[in-house]
Amino acid sequence: MRKLLVAGNWKMNAGPTEAKVLADEMAEIWKGKQFSHEALICPPYVSLPFVVKSFRDSFFKTGAQNVYTEDNGAYTGEISTSMLKELTCDYVILGHSERREYFQETDEFIAQKVSKSLSDSIRPILCVGEKLDERKADKQKEVVEKQLNTVLNQVDEKHADDFVVAYEPVWAIGTGETASPEQAQEMHAFIRSLIADSWSSDAAEKVRILYGGSMKPANAEELLSQKDVDGGLIGGASLKADSFSEIMSIAEQIGK
Ligand code: PEP
Repeated sequence: MRKLLVAGNWKMNAGPTEAKVLADEMAEIWKGKQFSHEALICPPYVSLPFVVKSFRDSFFKTGAQNVYTEDNGAYTGEISTSMLKELTCDYVILGHSERREYFQETDEFIAQKVSKSLSDSIRPILCVGEKLDERKADKQKEVVEKQLNTVLNQVDEKHADDFVVAYEPVWAIGTGETASPEQAQEMHAFIRSLIADSWSSDAAEKVRILYGGSMKPANAEELLSQKDVDGGLIGGASLKADSFSEIMSIAEQIGK
C-alpha cells in the first residue's frame, strides 16, 4: 500500500523570515489533527533550518531542492547529503525541469545525484516530464522514458520504497494549465510499467509517482484520485498555508 505524498516545492521563494511564518502557519493548522499520509515542504537551503524547527513537533517532513554528489571539499556553492541529514531532512527534489533548463543538468548527472542520495538515506524525488513542443509532437513517452531509464539503470530496485518519481509536464508548471486526469493517469501508468520492466513489478508497485504542474485545491481531487497518482509536487499552491492544507485535506479524504 503506497502512502500519498503531498510535497511543496517553494523554489527560490520564502527566505528565513517568511519561511518561518509560513511553516508555523501550516503546523498550526494541523496541530492536534491526524494526517494519514505524508506531508513535505522543500524550502530554499537558507530557510531549511527554520522550517525544520517550526515542524519539530509536527508530522511535516522537510526536504531540499537539490544536492551534490560529493561528501565535502572544494565545490563552492554546493551542499552534501550529510549536511541535509544533519538538518534531519528526509527528501531531496532532483532533476526539476528548472534545473535541467537553467542549469543544464543532464540525465546522467541527475542519476548520479539520485544514486548518492539513496545510498545516504535521503529520499530523492526525481522529476521527469516533457516540454510543450514534445507533447505536441507526441514524444512525451519517449522523453520521459529516457529521463527515467538513465536513473533506473544506475539504481538498485532494493531502493524502491525510498524512490519517488514526480511526473511534471513542463507546460503545466507555473502556467495554471494542468494535465487532464486522463493524461496524468496514462503517463503515471507508463512510468510504472517502465519501472516494472527495468526493476520488477513488485518494485514498481512500491514506487510513489507524484503529479506536478499547477496542482491546486480546485483540481487536486480529480488528479489524486487516479489509480497511479500517489501524491502531488506542488509549487505555487504550497506558498499559501491554506491552499496547501486544503490539498492535504483532499488527500486525506481520498484515503487510498
Ligand atoms: C513545481 O515547481 O514542481 C510545480 C509543479 O510548480 P507549480 O505547482 O507552481 O506548477
